[in-house]
Amino acid sequence: MLRLHPFEYHRPSRLEEAVTLLAAHADDVMPIAGGTDLVPNMKHGLFTPGHLVALGGVEEMHGIAIEGEELRIGACESLAAVARHPEIEAVFPALARAAELVSGPQLRRVGTIGGNVCLDTRCTYYNQTRFWRKALGYCLKKDGDACHVIKGGTRCVAAHSADTPPVLMVLDATLEIAGADGLRDVPIGDFFTSDGVWNRSIEPDELLVAIRIPIPPEGTSVSFQKLRSRKSIDFPLANLAVRVGRDASSRVSDLRVVASAMGSYPRRVGKVEDAALGNELGPGVIEAVAEQAFRQCHPLDNITVDKEWRRAMVPVLVRRALSEIAEA
Ligand SMILES: Cc1cc2nc3c(=O)[nH]c(=O)nc-3n(C[C@H](O)[C@H](O)[C@H](O)COP(=O)(O)OP(=O)(O)OC[C@H]3O[C@@H](n4cnc5c(N)ncnc54)[C@H](O)[C@@H]3O)c2cc1C
Ligand code: SF4
Repeated sequence: MLRLHPFEYHRPSRLEEAVTLLAAHADDVMPIAGGTDLVPNMKHGLFTPGHLVALGGVEEMHGIAIEGEELRIGACESLAAVARHPEIEAVFPALARAAELVSGPQLRRVGTIGGNVCLDTRCTYYNQTRFWRKALGYCLKKDGDACHVIKGGTRCVAAHSADTPPVLMVLDATLEIAGADGLRDVPIGDFFTSDGVWNRSIEPDELLVAIRIPIPPEGTSVSFQKLRSRKSIDFPLANLAVRVGRDASSRVSDLRVVASAMGSYPRRVGKVEDAALGNELGPGVIEAVAEQAFRQCHPLDNITVDKEWRRAMVPVLVRRALSEIAEA
């Protein structure tokens, strides 16, 4: 049986109280939302904070509402709530879909969208018991000094494995982050970094309070696609979000692709607009975008499923996304 280490559990009800607790125990504290990722990680000895600050009771981190030209989602809203919220389903169906495809129903009821955005990276050589990791000499991300994915590598490339960030990125979401110095806004495009050890611009003593998403202009469609071993429970082997804007004559005026679950952060695929802008979304454009994504996406051996097969599936996911948008 895997046991948890001893820790003190705090239950604030206001944001200020939560931030004060985090500051008071800096370097030995982590926030916990649904705990669906953090608790297994603690059982594996990957994190051993002496204090946990539970976010579920923090009033300011709840609520889903359209405010002016934006949708605001409290970070502690569950994935199930995001997936079935009528305004999200109506205005941001791809976000509802991404939330709906995370894990299985039990975890979606407890797991939050904030925890999904702040999810730790994953790797075959990291998400293991201490005994397992010790036998291998540990690794760069935790307790060791070598990477087993890239031999001789000096940088962790564990997989960013969250499903909602690609959609939030194509939708230009903004993250509200609170810390001892107050609140700051971070565009989600600036949030993730390439360092698989800690791939997000938020410290363990800061909080993601809410996510704000601008309502997209008319003619915008977004599709989310996920590759996984089974149709439930499994983390993504690859995932991507595609956004297409079309003008009054149905010609493409905006095209964005963000792909993830292959390396340590979600990445925008470049140059996809070249073949698409000003044209109708037909088979030629779809093929050109799929080809460009294939050229730029290079999954790594950070999970057990064959990286070449995952790469070969990238253009398939792009074709599915663009065909879905073209046919809608
Ligand atoms: C079997 C299994 C399958 C899974 N499948 C998927 C999947 O398919 N796709 C997927 O995306 N995820 C998957 N997950 C991971 C996880 O369930 C989800 O990502 C979930 O959204 C995490 O949210 P949580 O509230 O439980 O986060 P927690 O476990 O509470 O926290 C995760 C991390 O985020 C930090 N954190 C949480 N909330 C905040 C906040 N508001 N501000 C700052 N930091 C915060 C925590 O400190 C911790 O580091 C799976 C997990 C399991 C166990
Ligand atoms: S990518 Fe390398 S350093 Fe990172 S978790 Fe995996 S083995 Fe460890």
